[in-house]
Order: sequence, then structure tokens, then C-alpha cells
Amino acid sequence: MVLEKLGQGIQEALRKITKAGYIDKNVIDDLAKDIQRSLIAADVDIKLAFDLIEKIKKRSLDEKPQVGITPKEHVIKVVYEELVKIIGIKSEISLKPQKILFVGLYGSGKTTSIFKVAKFFQKKGLRPAIIGCDVHRPAAMQQVLQLASQVNVPYYAPKDMKNPIEILKTGFDKLKKYDIIIIDASGRSSLDKDLAEELKKIADFAKPNEVLLVIPADLGQAAGEQARGFKELVGITGIFLTKMDGTARGGGAITSCAITGAPIKFIGVGEKIDAIEVFDPERFISRLIGFGDIQGLIEKAKEAELKPETAEKIIEGKFTMNEFLEQLKAMQKMGSLKSMIGMMPGLPVRIPKEFDMDKQEGKMKKWSYIIQSMTKEEREDPQTIDVSRVKRIAKGSGTTEAEVRELLKSHEQMKKMVKMFSGGGMKRGMMARFAKKFKGF
Ligand code: GDP
Ligand code: MG
Repeated sequence: MVLEKLGQGIQEALRKITKAGYIDKNVIDDLAKDIQRSLIAADVDIKLAFDLIEKIKKRSLDEKPQVGITPKEHVIKVVYEELVKIIGIKSEISLKPQKILFVGLYGSGKTTSIFKVAKFFQKKGLRPAIIGCDVHRPAAMQQVLQLASQVNVPYYAPKDMKNPIEILKTGFDKLKKYDIIIIDASGRSSLDKDLAEELKKIADFAKPNEVLLVIPADLGQAAGEQARGFKELVGITGIFLTKMDGTARGGGAITSCAITGAPIKFIGVGEKIDAIEVFDPERFISRLIGFGDIQGLIEKAKEAELKPETAEKIIEGKFTMNEFLEQLKAMQKMGSLKSMIGMMPGLPVRIPKEFDMDKQEGKMKKWSYIIQSMTKEEREDPQTIDVSRVKRIAKGSGTTEAEVRELLKSHEQMKKMVKMFSGGGMKRGMMARFAKKFKGF
């Protein structure tokens, strides 16, 4: 795995969380320390790592977990979200016909990466071709030739031409039937004025849709400085970070590139032509964290949305059709009303079978339609729903009058029950405990 050590460090830190009895400040402080240590070992800037763990601490302790998420899952989610934020934004790879100019210093992995990208586009059903413009190193054109014969990508890389613009002119002409033209520009051992000028000339002539900078990840944080330099001097639209395999410093490379605002588009994870990955911060972090179902957890959090205001109202004993509808929606996703009732200590009443919703999805849907067919006043005060209104609501929601009446009756029962837990029926301490638990759903 890319960034194995960092991944292991974070996984271990999170495993401690899942083992802890409950989440408190000490547990979170420990977690923060472990994560900070792992980040710094991966060459992430100290201040960046510090800011990150401060955010993790604050959010883990201050935020209420969403509906359906346990406090521990909440912490994992916070760690995941904050890590995603510091490694950049997801960028789309255009699959339209286009020209891509590759820039980068000697030995960064430019030519190898060009072939990787060409292969990537081929797999997407496009027809890429390569123009070799590295006129300074004698072996460069030979390398293009060699790789091209291995992977079967058309190319134009004349050995005897020294003017990149001439090469481009002929190259574009020869390769005009191809969808994606990838240009391998010259490198240097450092980004100097000469290189910047040459690259600018090439860019002016080629008018590329993308200028991808190739940087080796083993530079660690220095990758960011290089990205900034190229961005200022020649302009880049994205980064191809190579050699992410076998370097412990990739964390520094990724985060320092992310700070420059130039999106990392691809990462190289080996010498072979298929060792390429499209860089997707969410996927990258969920793999790094390695908690199998982190995506599932994030989905769950997105879906289950019993609004805190609703919970508050129910706890206060308010339970109009609006709260009922909110509940129905949340229940359709996760049966939260049932689990809420299940959590009640010493519940004095049996749960009416209508609220055992597991097998009654159809009914829940119908009930949602019925409530949605009510006017604002009817929802607030269902007492005003008389026979003619029942008729109207049944028609409007495509249900029967009997079904509307059943809903009204169930709501009435539920309301009484809610009053009982929120009012006198329960001891104060019990209520407080429940309220806390319920809010922390
Ligand atoms: P250029 O001078 O920028 O064109 O770089 P090359 O494409 O010639 O690559 C330089 C060296 O880096 C070669 O030995 C490549 O095999 C190696 N290389 C390129 N990308 C990767 C990568 O993602 N992982 C590893 N391990 N090696 C890579
Ligand atoms: Mg090269």
C-alpha cells in the first residue's frame, strides 16, 4: 500500500478508539497525539499537522454525532473528513479530445508517466499519441521509442531535430487523427529561466488544455515548493505525483502540493506502465485509514437525518404531524423511532405494533404521502381534520379514508406516549439520560 506506515499509524490510533470504553477528552487527546506523530513521520508540515489535529479534537468533542452514528463512529468520520480536506480537492479527468503538456525536471518520471497516462486513455476507449520534445538529452527520444514499442502507443519523436516548435508542427500534423496528444517537454536539473522560457514557447505554440507537472513524491515537502515554482513560472493545471510507492515521505508531498492549489490528478505507484491511479482524496484516505466500511459510514451519516430541532421538539413533548413525518422519513432509512423507544429506560408502555416498522415499509411510505397531503394547519393541529378533510387527504395522497384514519389514530397514540416520557411519567434523571442519548443519536 502507498504510505503504508502512515496508514498503519492512523489505523492503530483509530483501533484504540474502537476499543475504548467511551469517548472522552483523554481518549481524544491520545488519538490526536498518535495521528500527529504519524503525519510528521510522513513528512507532513508540523504546523499543518498541528492545525489538523486541533480540528479533529475540537470536532470530536464538541459536535453531536448525527442520527444513526455512534460517538465512536463520529470520531472516525471526523478524522476521515479532516484528512480528506488537507490532501486537496477531487479533480475531474476530462475524456474529451485534448492536448496535454507534461513538464518536470530530469528523472521525475515524466516520460514513464506520459505512457501511463496514454495507456489510461486507451483503456477509456480514446486514442492517445505522444510527441517527444525533449531535445536536450540524447537518450530521451530513444526512451520514448522503447516505451512506445512496449505499450503500443503511436508517437512522434525525431532524434535529429533540435527545435521543439518544429517537432510540434510536424508532430501535430502527423498525429492529427488522434484524440489525445501528449507532449513530453524537456526537463532540466532545476527550474531555471531557460527551462521556463522553453516551456512557455512550447505552451504558446501547442495551446495545451492541460499542463501537468510531474513531481517525485520522495521529495516530501519540497514537492510543494517545486509545484509553486512551476505554477508561477509556466502555469500548471495539475500534478502527476510519481514514486508514491516506496517512499515514506508521500504525506509531505501530497499535502504540500495540495496547499499550492494545483490539484493532484494522478499518482504513480510503480515503474510499470499500469502503476497509475487517478487521485481521489476521498478514496485515498478511506484506503489509508483502512476501516473497511468508512464509505458506508459516510453514506449512513448522509442519509439518516433526524434533524436536531425535531429531536428537541419531541423531547419537549411536541409531536405534531410535522415531527411525525420527520420521524417517518428517518425511520424509513434506519428505524430510528424503534431504536429510540428501545433505548427508553423502564418504558412504561408496550410499543404499539404499528410502530414496529421493520416490516411495514409500504405503510410508512403511504403515511408520508398522507401527511404531505395535509395543509400546514392540519399538520399542526390534526384535531381539525374532519370527515370531509379525511376524504380530501385520501384523494390527494392516493390512499383510502380508512388509511388516513388509521394514521390519525396512530399519531394520537404516539403523541400520548411521547407526552408520557417527556412529562411526568418518568423520573427526572431517567429523562435527562434519555434526552442526552437521543440528542447524541
Ligand atoms: P524523466 O526523466 O522525467 O522522463 O523520468 P523517467 O520517466 O525516465 O523516469 C525516471 C525513473 O523513475 C525511471 O527509472 C522510472 O522507471 C522511474 N519511475 C517513474 N515513475 C515511477 C513510479 O511511480 N514509481 C517508481 N518506483 N519509479 C518510477
Ligand atoms: Mg524523459
